[in-house]
Amino acid sequence: MSLPNTADVVIIGGGVMGASIAYHLANAGMRDILLLEKDDFFGQGATGRCAGGVRYQFATEVNVRLSLASLPMLERFEEEIGQAIDYRKCGYLFVLTQPADVSIFQSTLTMQNRLGAGTFWLDGDDIRQRLPMMGLEDAIGGTFNPKDGTVDPNSVVMGYIRAGQRLGVNALTGVEVTGIQTGGGCVRAVESNQGIISTPVIVNAAGPWASLVADKAGLTVPTALGKGCMVAMATRLVHTVLNRCKHPSDGDIFVPIGTVTVLGTTDIPVGSPEDLAIEPEEIDLLLAEGEILIPSLLQHRPLRAWAGIRPLYRPATEPVIADPGCGHHRLIQRVTAVHDRRIRHERCCEGPIEAAELRPLRHQAHGVSGDDGLERRADDPQAGHELGGALPRGSHRVVGDDDRARIQEQSHDLE
Ligand SMILES: Cc1cc2nc3c(=O)[nH]c(=O)nc-3n(C[C@H](O)[C@H](O)[C@H](O)COP(=O)(O)OP(=O)(O)OC[C@H]3O[C@@H](n4cnc5c(N)ncnc54)[C@H](O)[C@@H]3O)c2cc1C
Repeated sequence: MSLPNTADVVIIGGGVMGASIAYHLANAGMRDILLLEKDDFFGQGATGRCAGGVRYQFATEVNVRLSLASLPMLERFEEEIGQAIDYRKCGYLFVLTQPADVSIFQSTLTMQNRLGAGTFWLDGDDIRQRLPMMGLEDAIGGTFNPKDGTVDPNSVVMGYIRAGQRLGVNALTGVEVTGIQTGGGCVRAVESNQGIISTPVIVNAAGPWASLVADKAGLTVPTALGKGCMVAMATRLVHTVLNRCKHPSDGDIFVPIGTVTVLGTTDIPVGSPEDLAIEPEEIDLLLAEGEILIPSLLQHRPLRAWAGIRPLYRPATEPVIADPGCGHHRLIQRVTAVHDRRIRHERCCEGPIEAAELRPLRHQAHGVSGDDGLERRADDPQAGHELGGALPRGSHRVVGDDDRARIQEQSHDLE
């Protein structure tokens, strides 16, 4: 389809958020929806670079509720949307190594199960029995939910794009929004490298680029961009998502995806959504930490490494949803994670968004990120179970230059 001169709504960004919003608006009966993606393909931003983890295990009630509302939708995805998404309920095991974490995770587990999440407690011996090949001598307990797992993010994106197109969504790639025209407190038009589109409504679904897009309308969306690096090993080394928690907020995550294992991830503050270069130290850190958990790790072949930028929202006092105060002419701004899409979008479609309920998701001072891309407080027990902190003394292993060169070379595959 070609670029129209007008649209009832223009969605900027063809990642999982934009694709889902487009589909859900169309499914709710809206017409004349235009989705613009600057890249040549949909889903090449954070969505195509994420680990695809979906889970019920969260530390805050609002996140658990979002999961309870949205993960069942992934189960019905193929039936409803017509696209298989490889939803694997392989379970998600948080392994605790610090006594202080035990009571925190146990109270979190109580909260999760009160809401109906179905999370189990395992003691250290249970964990070692289940995973005898792992270096889990220091495991003192953990939580496991068998319904947590992974999906293929690209299939989710394309499922929504195609389902939206069937409902009349005009979804275009290679169209970069370069400006936003406003007047009288309302958005008026979108300027792009292909032409200008008049529209009364713009949805900013630009993920890590959200603040740059908002800036074009003279608005501020404060973001804290965090680069996450991951390495794919050529062997399936685990059969459940394994997240080993260490203090203060670092950890290692292993994600089984088909025949490979994705090992991650770092969280390094960056200044731009294009800052995707991977430093050798990041690979060293991932492999060295991974080797603690899987002593045979380096006997397996690394396939590639890549980085993605987490679109974290860092508010000062602004609400998540910015309404320029012009009736239905709203500029909706959001920065969120894959598996939250349904409930938030339903609210977009149905009317005013209940900002109060989403408020707990807002980034507090000095928040940190988790593997799902949601920001959390630094004292959140499920915050930042990822790499990024210092290695335990004596545990750092220098990875051979050959390994590093091979991984770095392969890391360009996705950049
Ligand atoms: C390393 C890593 C691991 C992660 N793991 C998980 C996980 O396990 N589970 C989970 O739920 N989440 C995870 N996340 C978070 C998840 O990837 C993101 O929350 C999600 O993909 C955000 O989707 P989005 O559509 O908002 O952004 P994106 O996918 O980045 O989409 C934004 C799109 O907007 C386009 N765009 C930007 N500017 C313009 C413009 N001017 N004109 C037109 N188009 C534009 C971009 O090209 C891009 O395609 C992870 C993230 C990272 C980085």
